[in-house]
Amino acid sequence: SVRVRFAPSPTGPLHIGGLRTALYNYLFAKKHQGTFVLRIEDTDQNRFVEGAEDYIVESLNWSGIPYDEGPGKEGEFGPYKQSLRKDIYKNYVDELINNGRAYYAFDTTESLQKLREEAEANGEKFAYGPQNRLSLDNSLKLSSEDLQKRLDANEAYVIRFKTSPAQKLFLKDEIRGHIEVDTSVLDDKILFKADGLPTYHMANIVDDHLMEITHVIRGEEWLPSLPLHVALYEAFGWEPPKFAHLPLILKPNGKGKLSKRDGDKLGIPVFPLEWKDPKTGSEAAGYREGGYLPETLINTLALLGWNDATEKEFYKIEELIDRFELKRVHKSGAKFDPEKLKWFQQHYLQEADLDFLVKEYEEILKEKNLQTETEYVKEVVSTIRERAVFVDDFWELSSFYFVAPSEFNKKSSKKAWKTTTSELMTEFAEFLSGLKDFSEENLEKEIKNWITSHELGFGKVMQPLRLSLVGAMQGPSVFHIATSIGQEETLKRLKTAIN
Ligand code: GLU
Repeated sequence: SVRVRFAPSPTGPLHIGGLRTALYNYLFAKKHQGTFVLRIEDTDQNRFVEGAEDYIVESLNWSGIPYDEGPGKEGEFGPYKQSLRKDIYKNYVDELINNGRAYYAFDTTESLQKLREEAEANGEKFAYGPQNRLSLDNSLKLSSEDLQKRLDANEAYVIRFKTSPAQKLFLKDEIRGHIEVDTSVLDDKILFKADGLPTYHMANIVDDHLMEITHVIRGEEWLPSLPLHVALYEAFGWEPPKFAHLPLILKPNGKGKLSKRDGDKLGIPVFPLEWKDPKTGSEAAGYREGGYLPETLINTLALLGWNDATEKEFYKIEELIDRFELKRVHKSGAKFDPEKLKWFQQHYLQEADLDFLVKEYEEILKEKNLQTETEYVKEVVSTIRERAVFVDDFWELSSFYFVAPSEFNKKSSKKAWKTTTSELMTEFAEFLSGLKDFSEENLEKEIKNWITSHELGFGKVMQPLRLSLVGAMQGPSVFHIATSIGQEETLKRLKTAIN
């Protein structure tokens, strides 16, 4: 059965590129009734960032793509954090040493640095590999006794993979098809570091094997590591999983990878949740706090690098699961379109559960010290939501349902309020105060009659009325507003406008 993993390194907040990788893994797993694993790759202690792991877990949960196995959800393949698996890796690297596929290297940082500089001076790049490994300080040319002596003396070493010289590797990527690589471009990568921890490559391969991962779905930036990974599987005699490398997410203009700075410039976050850097204390915006709904983010990310060959644009997660196919993932980079993002958000705000929106809005009203009946807020939200993109837009679109306008828009006033308007509206207010039935329906009927019987243009009365109630020439039906705020408040606002 299908087992996939999302394997982030907790070196900072998860960005949307990472979230898309997680999403595609999730969709693929669910489509095939498989298992979605979260594995934390934290063997690089230097790059570890406090809080990043929790951030990743919370982001996946908020986005609605929870994992089946992982930290806090231990399964038979755990632990799911590489720092807790240290002892496992050593045995495997020993296995490679024993079958001649890896070796100890004692070269010091200084000696390698010197070689690097020498190569650079000649316009070349130093690589530790088949062409020069026998002239360097490693176990390949040591007798087993000499090697043992140096190990017993606790000399610092790393363990390197012994790449096969000039061999052709035939690789297959589920998205890109066949790729042929000449191993002479590969060097002898370090598998085990002097600090006794495996490198990314080593730990990644061993864990994918032990966790019985069937498909490795990850970002394109890992494609250059594929030859090494396949060579490692071969060295162990293990069957490799299938690989799928996802295209990059590009800036809106298509020039280069989308970065945090681009997000700042566009006024959109590139992180799912707000992030506070524990070292610098600096904050980065998140989609959640920016008022985006998880459905918006998921729909947007799903279409960044994939489509199902139809014109359909709105997908619920179940539909994505149903239609997702690796072979329909694109090869070329996907441009991030902030306008499209807003457009999805507008859509999902309309789809959102009314009670949820009401609750959110009530929080905002509470902050403004406005206590109102939930039924009333519900009525208001139903009326104005179609004009909103975010819950945060609600107040601007509906403040007049709760409080009298604090000022009148100048341009609208000039247009709606002529010299004779005050007199006319005084008469109109008198008429309104005499109405017994202030329901929306009756109000509309009575006001229209009044206007007709006075042989006036509709706008002559309706515009000043709207201005009085709203403070500007916008908003939903005036009859709806008047009925909602009630007769007394309507008359009060009219009076304020007249004076
Ligand atoms: N730890 C790697 C990362 O941070 C995982 C790459 C992979 O999926 O193999 O992206």
